[in-house]
Amino acid sequence: MSTPPGARRIDGRAIAARLRAQAAEVASALRERGVQPLLAVADPTAGDEGAAWYMRSISRAAEQTGIGCQIHPVDPAGGQEAVTSLLTRLSGDPAVHGVICQAPLPPGLTAAAAGGCIAVAKDVDGANPASLGQLAAGLGGAFAPATAAAVIEILRAEGVPLEGRRAVVVGRSTVVGKPVALLLLAENATVTVCHSRTAGLAAVCREADVLVAAAGRPGLIGAAHVAPGAVVIDVGITATPGGVMAGDVDEAAVAPAAAALTPVPGGVGPVTTAQLLRQTAAAAWRAETSRIQS
Ligand code: NAP
Repeated sequence: MSTPPGARRIDGRAIAARLRAQAAEVASALRERGVQPLLAVADPTAGDEGAAWYMRSISRAAEQTGIGCQIHPVDPAGGQEAVTSLLTRLSGDPAVHGVICQAPLPPGLTAAAAGGCIAVAKDVDGANPASLGQLAAGLGGAFAPATAAAVIEILRAEGVPLEGRRAVVVGRSTVVGKPVALLLLAENATVTVCHSRTAGLAAVCREADVLVAAAGRPGLIGAAHVAPGAVVIDVGITATPGGVMAGDVDEAAVAPAAAALTPVPGGVGPVTTAQLLRQTAAAAWRAETSRIQS
C-alpha cells in the first residue's frame, strides 16, 4: 500500500540490510579467528504456523549473514521441564553464543521463567528479567529485546533527534513497551508510557515528537493521535482474518500529519530480525574477547 503525501515511509528492509551487513562483518572476523557465531532457538511450539514462519525467516537471514542458526524442537509432552532444561543446557554450551526461546510456550511456563534459564551473556533477545533489570539500572552488558532495540536503530538510521524530545510509547509489555521506554530514556528523550487504562490516549499521543505504537490493536492510532511533524514507529503486528498483517497505526489517516512512519509489513519486523543477528554476533565477539583475556 502506498502512503499518501505527507509522511516519509521509512524503509525497514533497507535499514535491516545495513544492520545485517554489520553483523556479517563481525561474523566474518570471528570465523577468521576460528569461531563460528551460533544462535540456538528452543522451539516448543509443536508446529505453530506463525512461529514456524518466524523461525524460517531468522534461519534464512542468519545463513545470509554467516551466523549459524540451530533450531531445537522440544517435545510438548515433556512440558515445562523439557524447555527449561534445554535452555539451561544451551546456555552452558560454549559453542552457542545466543539463545532464544520461541513462543508460544507450553501451558504453565511463563516468559519470565523461560527467559530466566538463559544466561544473560547469551540472552540476545533480552528475555531474562535480569537483562531488563540491567537495562533499567543503566548497566551495560545485557541485550535489550531485539524489537525494542530495533525501534532505536530505526530512529538512529533516520537521524531522528531524541535528546530533549517528547516520546510516547503505547504499550507497557516487558518485551516491547517497557524496554523501548528505557532505551528512549537512555537517549535522553522525555518519555511517557501509555497502556489500556490511560485516559485521553489521543491527547497524550499528540504530545509526542516520536510516537511508538506497541499495543497489538490494529488501527488504534489514527489522525487524532499524531501531532504535525511527529515520527511514528508502528511495532504492532496482528494477523487479520484475511491473512494480512495489520499494524497499530492507521497509515492513511496518520500520513498527512506525520513527518515519517514505519509501514507494516516492511518496517520494524525486518529490523528486529537483523538486530537479533547483530546481537548474536556481538555476544560471540564478547565471548571470544573474554576468552582471549582470561
Ligand atoms: P502485549 O504483551 O499484549 O502488550 C500490549 C500492551 O498494549 C499492553 O501494555 C496493553 O496495556 C497495551 N494496550 C492494549 N490495548 C490498548 C489500548 N486500547 N490503548 C492503550 N494501550 C493498549 O503485546 P506485546 O508483546 O508488547 O506486543 C505488542 C505488539 O507488537 C503486538 O502486535 C505484537 O505482535 C507486536 N510485536 C512485534 C514485533 C516485531 O518484530 N515487529 C515483536 C514483538 C511484538 P495493559 O498493560 O494495560 O494491558
